[in-house]
Amino acid sequence: MDRQKIALVTGGMGGLGEAICQRMFKSGYRVVATCSPENQQAQLWQKSQKDAGFEFRVYKVDVAEYASCEAGVRMMLDDMGHIDVLVNNAGITRDSTLRKMSAENWRIVLRTNLDSLFNMTQPVLDNMVRSEWGRIINISSVNAQKGAAGQTNYAATKAGIHGFTKALALELARKGITVNTISPGYLRTRMVMKVPPDILNNKIIPEIPVGRLGEPAEVAGLVDYLASNAAAFITGANIAINGGQHMS
Ligand code: NAP
Repeated sequence: MDRQKIALVTGGMGGLGEAICQRMFKSGYRVVATCSPENQQAQLWQKSQKDAGFEFRVYKVDVAEYASCEAGVRMMLDDMGHIDVLVNNAGITRDSTLRKMSAENWRIVLRTNLDSLFNMTQPVLDNMVRSEWGRIINISSVNAQKGAAGQTNYAATKAGIHGFTKALALELARKGITVNTISPGYLRTRMVMKVPPDILNNKIIPEIPVGRLGEPAEVAGLVDYLASNAAAFITGANIAINGGQHMS
């Protein structure tokens, strides 16, 4: 394909999402970020990114709601004509032990982290199939692979993501579309910097063999590679990027 490719990054204004948007922009993609409908920072973010040399379109989409995703994707396709790379990155945590977890915190994490894959991916598929080219990259977590106390809801969704990846990879294998999971370990993002410093420094970092948090840009580089033509033979894979914290 000669046309400029379009990459759609859900949760594109978040810690990891922003790094992915920037990397894809630098690699020559037209980049579309989504944020929550109630997010009031979109214009400010677009401006600050523009000042830093990046240009992003932003659409407000609630990834937990099918109707919102379907309408959002329809609007993007009306505006731009095609979507070539979908990065399902938006995600939340609502941590507590299962004994203390509310049904609401179970449901909202499942809807945001897992239903979102159905909600965002199904509306883009026909367009990718018509293009005979596409990349779907789903962001999971090391905690899906190794478990994490206090995260039954989050770990269930992040493990479920890879089942989705494998099944969809088989459905699309002959259509020029690859589907892969990336499972990052702890990254130096806002999500992780909210962890109390004593837990971060005395518990989390000592468990990471390379002795530091991962950089969002390191994960963004892997997204960029999986999106490239060079990665056409990688599909249904779950690629760990966790500083050696968990090896499977
Ligand atoms: P973050 O900074 O909190 O970003 C999460 C993004 O998801 C936000 O931009 C948020 O947008 C969006 N989002 C949440 N709920 C949404 C909804 N209902 N509809 C639309 N957008 C929604 O978190 P992050 O650290 O960048 O994490 C990004 C992904 O990486 C997540 O899937 C996370 O599980 C995964 N991950 C992160 C780490 C880490 O160490 N940070 C490690 C492993 C995996 P709004 O602000 O507009 O709501």
